[in-house]
Amino acid sequence: DAKSGGKGKLRFFDPQMQEVVSQRLRLQEDLVRGIDAEEFVPYFQPQFDYHGNIIGAEALVRWYHPKRGVLAPGAFIDVADEAGLMNCIDRMVLQYACRKMAEWADIPAFSSFTLSVNISAARLYQPEFITDVLNIFEQTGVDPARIKLEITESMLLNDMPMAIQRMQTLKQYGVRFAIDDFGTGYSSLLYLQQLPLDQLKIDQSFVRALPDDDNSLNIIKAIVAMAHSLRLEVIAEGVETEAQRQLLHLHGCQHYQGYLLARPKPAEQLEAWLEQQLFSDQLSTL
Ligand code: C2E
Ligand code: MG
Ligand code: MG
Ligand code: MG
Repeated sequence: DAKSGGKGKLRFFDPQMQEVVSQRLRLQEDLVRGIDAEEFVPYFQPQFDYHGNIIGAEALVRWYHPKRGVLAPGAFIDVADEAGLMNCIDRMVLQYACRKMAEWADIPAFSSFTLSVNISAARLYQPEFITDVLNIFEQTGVDPARIKLEITESMLLNDMPMAIQRMQTLKQYGVRFAIDDFGTGYSSLLYLQQLPLDQLKIDQSFVRALPDDDNSLNIIKAIVAMAHSLRLEVIAEGVETEAQRQLLHLHGCQHYQGYLLARPKPAEQLEAWLEQQLFSDQLSTL
């Protein structure tokens, strides 16, 4: 009976709980199937400088699900992470991104363009991470200096010396590094200066609170000052309004990513969009 089963057992047989558990299991099985079928392909969101020139893009994974349509990471990333599947997904995304970047290298619209790719903790600490990334560079023929890997502050806490070592190894090949969602984790200048970093990405929660929230603005000012003193680029993500962009610029943040400027889009759409931008730029200088 229920009493002799104890609390844990009672909870397990809670039908609602059981539904959640089996839903996760189904998603997990579906993820394994989807990885096998190579259904994970990134969208690309352009990044801009103050003049409105494109400086790069971020690859953001999408699941081209045969029944559910195109799914954003929010629909699967937690379960994928728990099931130990993120390294497979990250690998697929990097491969696709590098293939695209190699294709784009000679196109005028893509000159001075770097591609940012997110990596998970599982991926960074995977024993075969370095050889695997180098293999992907070789297979795709991409210039590693065109690739920027995004990590988060919390990922570094697992094993700092190991993370630093891996980053330094890839750095020797020209790979760049960014800290994503910066300002939301624990960071000290002391450890930031030990990392081979190129860029800090101001977390969107601070940007979203602009222009009205003084606390967020103060945090942004501190991040920009920190970036400058460490000689790092700084980019704001989640820029949705012109007022936000202007305030960011006023406080020394020169690079932007967000719906105001462009949404994430499939590779072909990015290509078409960039060609068109270039074309209208040429027209406007006539
Ligand atoms: P992130 O790396 O911080 O990426 C920024 C997220 O903000 C993206 O969501 C992007 O679509 C969204 N975004 C961009 N501009 C705006 C804006 O103006 N307003 C709002 N509200 N949102 C904006 P997305 O694509 O759903 O990705 C969510 C997160 O999933 C990413 O956050 C990243 O942490 C993770 N992720 C995405 N792709 C990968 C991947 O290939 N590997 C790994 N490990 N994680 C990934
Ligand atoms: Mg990112
Ligand atoms: Mg972010
Ligand atoms: Mg994030």
